[in-house]
Amino acid sequence: MCRYSDNLLSLQVIMNSKKIHKILIANRGEIAVRIIRTLRKLHIDSVAVFSDLDANALHRRMADEACPLGGGALKDTYLNIQKIIDAALDTGADAIHPGYGFLSENPEFAEACEANHLIFIGPDAETMRLMGNKIAAREVAIKAGIPVVFGVTGNMYQILEQADTLPYPVLIKAAAGGGGKGMHIVRTKETLRDALESASREAEKYFNDGTVFVEQYIEHPRHIEVQVLADHHGNLIHLHERECTIQRRYQKIIEESPSPTLTEERRQALFDAALKLCRAIGYKNAGTVEFIADQNQNFYFLEVNTRIQVEHPVTEARTGIDLVEEQIRIARGKEMGWTQEAIQPQGHAIELRLYAEDPENGFLPTPGKVTAYHEPQMRGARVDSSIDGPCCISEAYDPMIAKLICHAKNRQGALETAQHALKDFTIQGLTTNKAYLWEVIKNQDFIDNKIDTGFCDAHRETLEQAMKESRQSQHLDDIVASFLLFDCCKRRFEKHIENVWEEIGYWRYHSKFTVEVEGQKIPVSITEWKTESGKLKVSFDTSHLSPLTSSAEFIALNGPQLKLMLNGRPETVYCSVNEEQKTIVGFRGLNFTCCRTDQLNDTLDYARKTEVNDKSRLVSPMPGKVVKINVKEGDVVEPGTIMIVVEAMKMENNIVATGKGTVKQVLVQEGEMVDNKKQLIVM
Ligand code: ADP
Ligand code: ADP
Ligand code: MG
Repeated sequence: MCRYSDNLLSLQVIMNSKKIHKILIANRGEIAVRIIRTLRKLHIDSVAVFSDLDANALHRRMADEACPLGGGALKDTYLNIQKIIDAALDTGADAIHPGYGFLSENPEFAEACEANHLIFIGPDAETMRLMGNKIAAREVAIKAGIPVVFGVTGNMYQILEQADTLPYPVLIKAAAGGGGKGMHIVRTKETLRDALESASREAEKYFNDGTVFVEQYIEHPRHIEVQVLADHHGNLIHLHERECTIQRRYQKIIEESPSPTLTEERRQALFDAALKLCRAIGYKNAGTVEFIADQNQNFYFLEVNTRIQVEHPVTEARTGIDLVEEQIRIARGKEMGWTQEAIQPQGHAIELRLYAEDPENGFLPTPGKVTAYHEPQMRGARVDSSIDGPCCISEAYDPMIAKLICHAKNRQGALETAQHALKDFTIQGLTTNKAYLWEVIKNQDFIDNKIDTGFCDAHRETLEQAMKESRQSQHLDDIVASFLLFDCCKRRFEKHIENVWEEIGYWRYHSKFTVEVEGQKIPVSITEWKTESGKLKVSFDTSHLSPLTSSAEFIALNGPQLKLMLNGRPETVYCSVNEEQKTIVGFRGLNFTCCRTDQLNDTLDYARKTEVNDKSRLVSPMPGKVVKINVKEGDVVEPGTIMIVVEAMKMENNIVATGKGTVKQVLVQEGEMVDNKKQLIVM
């Protein structure tokens, strides 16, 4: 069906086909950064918008220009149509790219752009309105002869009238829903009424529209979708499929292409259905037609996402097409740069979404401070990230930090690349789902493609166990050695000190102490210190772990990245210090929190050394604060008596009597700051 209004619109765009010099990106996070990268390639100026919380965000720093949106709720910042339009007009932008989420599927926003002679990079408002309503979209699909899941629409009474005949379990969905929100499974007719009522209330709250409908719940389904591109010249192509079956809370976390599931016949049928639907609605620009597939590869239409999608890089990796570039071309009214025949996808691609969330705690977000960030540098691995170094992940926004996209000749190759890349991908300071993703792609059921959308729930215990085992399989002595070397180097780099004793700093007094790794206490004794041609060698004996002596030899420290020789083999670890002054050691892809604990032994050692120099003088081992004085003049002390406690570097250090004696004079008071020269006690 060719609609007259459609042609008219197309014609307008073609006639207006103008050069775009500047684009405002009405988004934040990785997608804003990703769009800016394409704009740079195309020599188009970029304008970022940013909230107060994002004042130092990567997308703001990367853009050629940036407009503040102020603070407050989303409706006052990234969802504020007027502010964003004003920013575009003020900066002289020709067009707006909405990214995904936020205003990307908001028809009023597209209309506001048009009213202000700004090109909206996406489909027209009418299409968005139609597809934004899942019930309307279903009806279009039914009319176009595309299979949909059995469903019942209508008001509450109309739905309840059919309660007896529904094919349970059913899924209640919000007509205006999205992002996996507002869906409820109903297993018996008795619970239908309550579920409908609460789903409707929820939909009203989230989407300002309480309309709900009921769909048959497909058991053990897969999610498979088709990427499409359509221009204003009648060209409509598909860019093959993506399988997005690995989800948690109805939200995708791993996507791949090609689908390891579809037969060639089913694949073609899926493409045909997607194109048929897009043709029926006169779709323009980039879009995704989502389907749900049952165990027999019967697929049913779910919805059309009228925007660039989170997982679009999977398609870019296989086709070599820059989807954002095509979106811009199409929005300008140019013919798209590709024909269906020219699309020859290569190999296999997989995307893993990295979130600040805790897989062991119901995937709850874990906003907070990132203390170290390092991306894998590897052929075949692309990272689209919202950050480029230490920063704060705010609880105000989506907790997705970055996406890792790996591409190889086949699925096995892509999975291997992803495993290696994850090992070299470092995010420290907050809990992420990285270790979880790693276990998913190593899981045999996943490798064998024995998956459905319930995979994460069904494998919860297995994956948690696997995460624990992966941690336990790391050698603690390697982690301790890396930690000690970093602790030493850090001091050296911070102070730029030449003198070797100062490099070693605090340690020179102590050869025996305890290191705590993830709460586990490990006694350590340093057996050898060497500096040869600027290299530092630490040998220490962690004999309770293994009879071996571990040696760590410094090679280079570059930001959080420490290169070292660990027992003679080269190793790269990542280290940073968190707010509690504990060191996080990233070892072969896993983070371990380390710190030095026991100070009693150290102080004894220190006191012994002091005694040699001056029997009656007792000084603090380092600058700090006197937090406790246990003795007074005239007290007789035994060897080992803790006389004074000095706090330094957030650790308590005990000043201990080295032999039997009498306290002649206490020279300090509690609360007093002391340096390492100040005498504390006269014995
Ligand atoms: P997709 O297949 O693209 O993930 P969904 O509709 O399942 O499509 O999820 C996309 C949703 O994720 C958006 O609508 C939005 O609510 C949310 N989202 C995720 N990351 C971001 C982000 N950086 N900015 C805005 N929204 C985001
Ligand atoms: P959203 O707009 O939130 O993305 P979708 O309709 O695309 O909503 O569905 C999101 C996810 O919910 C799907 O990927 C799938 O995992 C699940 N889902 C949706 N409909 C059904 C269904 N009828 N049966 C089983 N699972 C479904
Ligand atoms: Mg969806």
